[in-house]
Amino acid sequence: MENKGYLINEVGILGGNDKVKTNLFYLFYNCCKRGGEMIDTHCHLSKDDYDDIDLVIKENKEAGVSKMIVSACDKKSMLEIISLKDKYDFLYVTMGYHPSEALSVIDKDLQDLKKNLKLSKVVGVGEIGLDYYYSKEFIEKQKWLFEEQLKIAQELDMPVVIHSRDATLDTINILKKYSVRGIIHCFSGSLETANIYIKMGFYLGIGGVLTFKNSKLKEIIKSLSLDNIVLETDSPYLTPVPYRGKKNSSKYLKYVVLELASIKEMDPKDVIEITTRNANSLFDFNNK
Ligand SMILES: [Zn+2]
Repeated sequence: MENKGYLINEVGILGGNDKVKTNLFYLFYNCCKRGGEMIDTHCHLSKDDYDDIDLVIKENKEAGVSKMIVSACDKKSMLEIISLKDKYDFLYVTMGYHPSEALSVIDKDLQDLKKNLKLSKVVGVGEIGLDYYYSKEFIEKQKWLFEEQLKIAQELDMPVVIHSRDATLDTINILKKYSVRGIIHCFSGSLETANIYIKMGFYLGIGGVLTFKNSKLKEIIKSLSLDNIVLETDSPYLTPVPYRGKKNSSKYLKYVVLELASIKEMDPKDVIEITTRNANSLFDFNNK
């Protein structure tokens, strides 16, 4: 009960009609009370971004996040998370070289990745993919790195977390060559693209962008089933409204839930239940 003042405060910040307020209350109060069940399928957790990681983790857990899947996507963040992952029960990891690393990764790094992927609590390969917004100068190198890591994911039978920016067609064509499943992280494409990925067996990772005022995603989500969606923050980036502009953290995942609930006219509890079930069916948390 001691949280009540805080809850009222947060509702006050958001405003909205009575139904929204009731939902907010329900979500905040019950999630906090029950220990929560939301899974943040994609976040970053580096000392470069947070002064006190232990505090951040504690706050996230208190805010109803039951699992954080940390994406370690360069050599430095891989080492960092290896030393942190066993300290907290609810931390899990995906590892893979981001396309922006394409020029620096050599064969030996791929061998190291393969070894690291076998460590406890490492549940997927990512984020990997193509980013033509970042640079079009080394597209071939990006494709090489992407495919090498897809081969590893296929061999180890692990889900992949895909980063694709301004590169939809190439991403789809490359993914079709491999037998992999996973998440299209920070999905931002058209309804047609969404349906292609879903048909290929992928989940769409939906985060703070959905809450942005003019987000085209809102309209797209209306036409999709939640059975194809998982929650993510991509923290410290892409903070949802009403905290847009501040540093993101898994504790703000609830605002993505509320936005989904409002768009789909569903109870936030059901949004959490479905997205958590999706994440649990994709990632093997038990054997790791
Ligand atoms: Zn990310």
